[in-house]
Amino acid sequence: MLQRTLKRTASFVGVGLHSGLSTRVTVKPTGPDQGYVFRLIEGDAAREIVARVENVVDTQRCTTIAAGAARLHTIEHLLAALRGLGVDNAEIGIEGPEVPILDGSARGFVEFIAAAGVQEQDRPRRRLVIERRFRLEDDSGYIEVSPDDHFSVECTIEFAHPQIQRQSIIYRDDDAAFVDEIAPARTFGFVSELEKLREAGLIRGGSLENAVVFDETSCVNPDGLRFPDECVRHKVLDVIGDFSLVNAQIDGKVTAFCPGHSLNNRFLRCLLADPSAYRIEESGDSRRSFRARAPRKSWSNS
Ligand SMILES: [Zn+2]
Repeated sequence: MLQRTLKRTASFVGVGLHSGLSTRVTVKPTGPDQGYVFRLIEGDAAREIVARVENVVDTQRCTTIAAGAARLHTIEHLLAALRGLGVDNAEIGIEGPEVPILDGSARGFVEFIAAAGVQEQDRPRRRLVIERRFRLEDDSGYIEVSPDDHFSVECTIEFAHPQIQRQSIIYRDDDAAFVDEIAPARTFGFVSELEKLREAGLIRGGSLENAVVFDETSCVNPDGLRFPDECVRHKVLDVIGDFSLVNAQIDGKVTAFCPGHSLNNRFLRCLLADPSAYRIEESGDSRRSFRARAPRKSWSNS
């Protein structure tokens, strides 16, 4: 499979979840093998942060990357949209401290990328091929990868809340499945934690417009949930975004139980530090292509 970038430059403006500040985002095509590069623009100056696992500096409520004094929050949903649509290379200009939250999902980013268009490049996609089972646990959950010739995520969450409880889903890498079944799933939180987050100076831009919020018994958003299992779908979205920081297509099956940004990042750091668990292939053994992709039966709830 060939690498892909955008066809043309496109930009939009949105509000940051944590800062509440309005931010302009401009996404540009780049050459092959560049990966995702953020450029933080302040007046005439720009500071660059390459979107890589090792540049993650904070995982409290969102994924934050930094290079020197430059710092950028909430990169995960935009990166999930790029990865989910098979875009390997892009330069992302940001005029503000964080990527806008939009509606708390990746749907707006997908529409924006689709409007800019996607084109193939003349170089095969870089692949990270899982060679053996690799697992990391923390107090709340675990993540495991095992060899497979496609990327997939099997995710389960458990919350002691009557509208969430236990949810499981299997996502198999496919542009259409990503657009229809994962991208629209919004981030979620609980009324009981909102005040604490506000006191901590977080979620200044947070509202029912950009998150699913639950009280003790139900979802308080006037329009309710987009999917009965929207929460676990959003966890898959976060995994796709956080795992895009390996700068390669992952050939392997991810199994995750109650994942979060912190576990996602620690898992990737441990995996990349163990070369017996994977190999990198620069040239592709393409079994599907963008135009002749597998039919849509890539979803199952369990
Ligand atoms: Zn998220």
